[in-house]
Amino acid sequence: MNQYDLIIVGAGPAGSMAAKTAAELGLKTIFFERGRKPGEKNSSGCGLGPRLWREFDIMKELTPEKCPSMRAGTAARNYFINKEGEVAGYIMTRPTESVSYKPARDWITMNVYRSEFDPWLAQHAVDAGAELKSSTLIVDLLKENGHVKGVVDEKGNKHEAPVVIGADGVISMVAKQSGLRTKWELDQITVVPQYDFYAPPDKIDDIMGDETLAVWWSAQFPASYQVFFHDGFHQGLGNWLNKWDKNPLFYLNRVINLKYYKRLLKILEAKPRELQSHCLPWLKYPYNTHGNGVILVGDAGGFPCPLEAEGIYPAMLTGSIASKVAADAISSGDVSKKALSKFDDAWKKTSIGEDFEAGEELYEIWKALPFSPEETMTWFVPLFMEIMGGIYDWSEPHPKRVRQIASKIKSYMPVALPFIMKYVFPLVAKIFENDLDKMMDGAKLAPMLPRLIEMIPKKRKRRK
Ligand SMILES: Cc1cc2nc3c(=O)[nH]c(=O)nc-3n(C[C@H](O)[C@H](O)[C@H](O)COP(=O)(O)OP(=O)(O)OC[C@H]3O[C@@H](n4cnc5c(N)ncnc54)[C@H](O)[C@@H]3O)c2cc1C
Repeated sequence: MNQYDLIIVGAGPAGSMAAKTAAELGLKTIFFERGRKPGEKNSSGCGLGPRLWREFDIMKELTPEKCPSMRAGTAARNYFINKEGEVAGYIMTRPTESVSYKPARDWITMNVYRSEFDPWLAQHAVDAGAELKSSTLIVDLLKENGHVKGVVDEKGNKHEAPVVIGADGVISMVAKQSGLRTKWELDQITVVPQYDFYAPPDKIDDIMGDETLAVWWSAQFPASYQVFFHDGFHQGLGNWLNKWDKNPLFYLNRVINLKYYKRLLKILEAKPRELQSHCLPWLKYPYNTHGNGVILVGDAGGFPCPLEAEGIYPAMLTGSIASKVAADAISSGDVSKKALSKFDDAWKKTSIGEDFEAGEELYEIWKALPFSPEETMTWFVPLFMEIMGGIYDWSEPHPKRVRQIASKIKSYMPVALPFIMKYVFPLVAKIFENDLDKMMDGAKLAPMLPRLIEMIPKKRKRRK
């Protein structure tokens, strides 16, 4: 029997961060990875958000020398596809004046390949003193009187520790064997197919400039994301398991077969490198995150962001928190579920806790908008394009065009208004719940009304 203070299953971002933190706190720590090296089994790449740099000093050591796939950009693009399958318009955005974290003004996401990022992070844990055992599949948990006591690998080797951290990703053996969760509900887990394209770095730079990512919005497929790396890019889309009516690839192929997309592939000299499909939890709120002697972190605990499923930051943050809570519990001699509930107390106080405060509203609006394309994008795209692009028609006098555009927009109101009432208002109310009293102060609003009414323009006589 091998005895440790802390055992971690999985060497993804959550597991490596947990291992690093635990080793730094002086715990005898081992982390297991089924892949030959960390990052081998994951989706090939991802975009890292600025919160990681804000939270973790080690991120400042991540450089293109250590991670050659790295590409940062200051611009993101939203493409809007009309019912004819054409790009009806796009909006390019850059960080705005209200961005408060300074580095986030210089780049939106830092895009990296997981085959480079995960080993880099795991090495930090090893350097801190944690033992990494790769090519080792953990198949079961050791339990005693309802307490998790250790793990069993596929060769039958047993490893014991007072606390086990499940950092084993979306299909978590630790969650299942500990009894914390049998399986995800169909509306808690998404399947995400994606193409990984190779493209020459100079072509990407010349054509995309400093664009780092794009989202393609359409009634014909769930919102599809594009992420640019140093020598290639991803095109993928996802939806909850209960929302697919066809093979997800059918929808992804619709994206890459758009006329505009084919042109993009041609000028970028892009070649498909790999087709991948992964699952990703997407919840309104994480639940059952800990038990006697066990904590679930990262995807295993259901922590990706409820709006756009950013998962690396929550994984690293919950990994680090779990190890601190485990260290305290081990030193106090109490690793019960009650003692480990400090894990929930702690993550709820962080920036991911704040995101999940509005988790239900964020989840619902995402589900209703990009993930229900036929219901909502059929009106959202033309409505939006009417506002953005309508004025470019010079075939009529401008006042007449404005009346035509307004009339068209009005025709979408029977579908748009119920949507706004059902999804947008609850979200806005949640986000501003602490300010609602001030904003809706009747005593302050009442005197403003007569002045506003006064400002309504009166009909003037026609010019002579
Ligand atoms: C297609 C796709 C694109 C994404 N894009 C982004 C993005 O751009 N930005 C972002 O922030 N997030 C993104 N995510 C989410 C992000 O990838 C995850 O949230 C993140 O990887 C979670 O980290 P983790 O350490 O919890 O789990 P994982 O990264 O899944 O790591 C779990 C590790 O445990 C190992 N393991 C599993 N079971 C066992 C076992 N029984 N024994 C031993 N080892 C085991 C696995 O091999 C793996 O290495 C994306 C997800 C997908 C699917």
